[in-house]
Formats: sequence, C-alpha cells, structure tokens
Amino acid sequence: MFRTHTCGELRKDDNNKDVTLAGWVQTVRKFGSITFVDLRDRYGITQLLFSESLNALLEANPLGREFVLQVKGTVNERSNKNKNIPTGDLEIIVHSFSILNKSITPPFTIQDDTDGGDELRMKYRFLDLRRNTVKKNLELRYAVGRSTRNYLHEQEFMDIETPFLIKSTPEGARDFVVPSRMNGGQFYALPQSPQTFKQLLMVSGYDRYYQIVKCFRDEDLRADRQPEFTQIDCEMCFVEQEDILQMFEGLIRRIFKDVKNIDYTDKIKRMTWMDAMWLYGNDKPDIRFDMKLANLKFPAHAFPEKTSPPALSQREGASESTDKPDPSKFAESKVLSFGEDLGEVIKAFPPFDEAETVIAIAIPGCSEYSRKQTDELTEWVKRPQIGMKGLVFIKCNADGSFKSSVDKFYDAEKLKNIASAVNAKAGDLILIVAGDEEKTRKAASDLRMHMAHTLGLRNPEDFKLLWVLDFPLFEYAEEHNRWVARHHPFTSPKPEDIETMINNDPKITNASEYLKHPYANIKANAYDMVLNGNEIGGGSIRIYQKDLQKKMFAALGMDEEEQQHKFGFLLGAFEYGAPPHGGIAFGFDRLCAIIGGSESIRDFIAFPKNNSGRDVMIDAPSTIDDKQFEELQIRLDLK
Ligand code: ASP
Repeated sequence: MFRTHTCGELRKDDNNKDVTLAGWVQTVRKFGSITFVDLRDRYGITQLLFSESLNALLEANPLGREFVLQVKGTVNERSNKNKNIPTGDLEIIVHSFSILNKSITPPFTIQDDTDGGDELRMKYRFLDLRRNTVKKNLELRYAVGRSTRNYLHEQEFMDIETPFLIKSTPEGARDFVVPSRMNGGQFYALPQSPQTFKQLLMVSGYDRYYQIVKCFRDEDLRADRQPEFTQIDCEMCFVEQEDILQMFEGLIRRIFKDVKNIDYTDKIKRMTWMDAMWLYGNDKPDIRFDMKLANLKFPAHAFPEKTSPPALSQREGASESTDKPDPSKFAESKVLSFGEDLGEVIKAFPPFDEAETVIAIAIPGCSEYSRKQTDELTEWVKRPQIGMKGLVFIKCNADGSFKSSVDKFYDAEKLKNIASAVNAKAGDLILIVAGDEEKTRKAASDLRMHMAHTLGLRNPEDFKLLWVLDFPLFEYAEEHNRWVARHHPFTSPKPEDIETMINNDPKITNASEYLKHPYANIKANAYDMVLNGNEIGGGSIRIYQKDLQKKMFAALGMDEEEQQHKFGFLLGAFEYGAPPHGGIAFGFDRLCAIIGGSESIRDFIAFPKNNSGRDVMIDAPSTIDDKQFEELQIRLDLK
C-alpha cells in the first residue's frame, strides 16, 4: 500500500502518530522557509508542513497543482486551526516525500468554486470529478442506489439483468439502433426501458423484479435530458394499483430516511390527472405552495355531456386527500356550470369573450406591485416561450377596493365577483391569461411557477410528494387520426373501462368529434409519482390478456402483421399463463438531482452528455472506419 491513512480520516486522537499519506496536491503555499501543501484524496484534505530542512529537496523537486504525492510524517496539532474542515485541527510534519507522478497545469482550478466553464469541465470531466461538489453528488447517487437496493432486497425483489441489444420497446421516443454484422441489413434497438422483458419475467414467475438500469431514448434533448439515463425499474405479480402505491411509497420514504435523515411521515397526497390539469395546469404539480389556477372560462369541448367540473371551492381538498380517488367523481358531482357563470361575470372584455379559455391565479400578498413590476410580468408572458398576447391583473387592495388593468370594462362589482371566484383575499394580486386552451393552460402553469420562484416558495429542501392518478389511457394523434397510448401500449385500462375498450371499434370516423368517442373517456390503470413538480416515477397495471393486448395494438393502428412482427413474442407469452402484474420505473438521475437540491441531472451523472448528445471528453459520437462500414454492409447517404 502506498498509504497508511487517507487525507480525510485523521483526527485529534491521531496526534503524534507516524503516518504515510498519498494524494493530489491542491495548493502549495510558501511562507519564508516553510512550505504548506494541501493534500487531497477522495476522503478529504490534510495540511502538510515542509520545514526548512526539506527546502533544498523541494527546490530540486518542485511541487505543482495536481501532482500525485506520497509523504511520510508525524501528525501534529495545529496552532492555527481551520474550523471549516474536519481535519483542520491537524497537520503532518513531513519527514520525507516522493512525487509519484507529475501533472501539467490543469485547465481549471479543482476547487468548489472553480473557474472552469461548463464545456471545459465536461471536456476534462475526469478532473471535474475530483472536485468536492461533484464528488458529493456522486456519493449521494451511490447512497440513493444503496438504499433502493436494500429496501427492495428486504421486500424480496430480485435484481435480474435484461439485454441491451433488443428490439424496439415503445416508450414514445425514437430508438437508438445498432447494426448487426452477423445479420447483414438487420438492426438491434437499444431498450427505451426493459418494459417487455420485465413483463416476460412476470410470466416466468419471478414475481418481484427490479433493476437499476440504463435506458436509451433518441429524443431531441430538451433542457436536462440525457440520451442514456438510469431507471429504478420494478415489476410485481398479483398486484393492484394500491399495492404498487404502498410498496413504492415505502421505497421513497426509505430513501429520504437513509439519505437525508428525513422522516417523511406525511400522508402522500393523491390527485386525479383531471384535477392536476385544471387546478395546476400540468400533470406534475408542484404542491409545495398553493396558488391553484381558477378556470374562469372553460373551452366548450372540455367537458362533453354530463362531466362538467364542479366549482373550484367544491373540489378543493377533496381530490387531494382522498385515499382512493373515485374515478367517477366528475360524472357524479353536481353539475355546477362554473364556466358559464363566470363567463357572464367576465363578459364585456373582448379578449376574454373571444378566448377559448380564461385562467386566473391569485398571488398572495402582491397587491402592491408597482407599475414596473406588472409591466415586467406582462412582458414575461408575452415572451415567445410563453406566447400570451397579454396579461390582465386585478389588485385586491388591503382596504377592500380593487384596481385593475381592465377598469374600463369591469365595474367594482364585477371585479369583486371575479376575486371571489378566484378565492383571492385582500392583499392579493390576480393575474389572468386568456387564449387557446393548451397554450393558456401551459402559460398559467408557467406563470404560477415563475411567481412561486419570485416569492421564494420553491425551497429545494422542502420535499412534497404526490401521486397523480386516473390518466386517460389514450391521446388523440391528429396527424394520423388515431389513438396513441398515453403511457405505453402495455398499460391496462381501469377494470371498469375494459368492457368499453373491448366492445367498441377504436376507429375514429369523425375527427372533429373524437372527444365523443368512447375511447376518449377510458382511464388508464396508471400512476405517476411527482416530487416538487417533477415526475420522478411512473408505471401502470399491465394488460395480461392476449385479446385485450391485441385490441390495444389495433387501437394504435397496428394491423395483425405488424402486431406479430413487433410483439409476437409477448402475445405468444400471454398464452402460457400470464399472471396479473404491474410495475413502475423511477428516473434515478432526476430523483438524485432533486434530493441533492439541484435542477440538473447532469451534475449527478459521472460522465454525462452535453445538450447535443455529445460526450465532449471522448468525442462521441464519431465516424467509424471504412472497414467497419464494409463489414456492416452499410453505405452512408448523408443529407
Ligand atoms: N417502462 C415504463 C417507463 O419507462 C415504466 C413502467 O411502466 O414501469 O416509463
């Protein structure tokens, strides 16, 4: 061994001990005839003291940053202690040293606050990884992984590997493909997830499976996505939705305990997808703060027939706290034409009259916003990323009066009615956006997040978990005039919707009325776990009956031949005693990032890719040799 101790482990009790350390030179400081060196390894930093007697040797063998150094010496209690680091009480009086290897000057300083930009640090990621902040992230990742494995092992889950060279698994992205040399003209696909394999393992009887596994999706890299990422992938036999929710609430609670020492004893809230969309504007609400959206005008098509949503005040709380959300809630609830009533109230302001949707948010305590501040908010919603034409605001003054940007159109009575519909209190600032449904809802959701950020309500150390349930099984794909699976094609409908699925023809004859098709109302037996506004996991109870699976494939536009070509193996397996099963997968990188208080998953991946999917350190992707093309029988035709 090159060392007797690490740089992080020496403490006061070690005083006077003779030790050998090995590590990297972080800094060299010369004070007259003595030299101080901070020596670093994975465990910490220890100060070395080279006294005058070593000067000549040091001059002949000068030390530089990142040199690999071995020293022998005696532990000494420092007179001038550094309270900031655990080893700060001590130093090593060096007797002898040996330079194990030199380093050229690194391109950036290897310290917590580095002078290296993103691109440079990625190019020299092996140096970046020496930095304490990056190391802490990888340590956290390791801890999350270890806690996961321990919990799942205790719950009888078996870690089983599944192959990477496979056939397409549709998770909604493009596949990465790998040409096969031995089977000219044929290609493997890299798994977007182990979905079909874990289902086959259920057919094989391995009733509790998990894997911390790489998945590959060739997507345009929006912010903070990676073409290869890691999932905690799980599947169980003989379970219903409730069993899965309980099991994996347990996992997350355990991770919080093990990694952050947080007792997450709160009940984990549950919310229907419909409520998430109407009350928060997206399917992964951040519930660390309130500020729900108030829909002042619903689009005409939003609630066909009897399913108008109840008033905000009636719904509030109800759907969030119920243990088992009632999927028929909307259908049964009193049809309170919330949209229509408010439609009257907000009438007279042409942009609202013309808009498909009008959505308001009451921002607490902001009624005294200045003209400049409201102008800034207006500019914010008009940015191309948000795309609104404007922003209406109503100040609910502390004295009970109102001041709005639409005073010309609304009298005090109307403003008061709007304020009460929005549940605004004196002192609040109401912000209203209007326009096409989807865009407006997204804008309102973004505005809500923006205001929460401005008001400091998105504390990264405050963790709020949520289940989103009762997703629609299908989405309508306009360009093909057919259905697509919202989760993936193996997700089962809710038990009560199975008959609707079986007994109806999935074909959409009248595109403009697709919402009236029975398939539009089928709910998925699926669930997403949301943490602080991020989807950290999602899964479903699966289809395990061959006929239902074929019906699903048909609904997605696959004819018999395509079904056999793509999924013959699965349909075949379902003929040999497939048990009821379901599962979930967590985005491991994102989970680590959120627990680590960061917005960026890259910080928690040892060797990540950049925004164009490149590894700038090893320079991949890159071209291959002509010989390789020849062997693969592939010719390029680059456009
Ligand atoms: N395979 C799914 C996914 O990657 C997760 C699941 O349904 O278990 O999202």
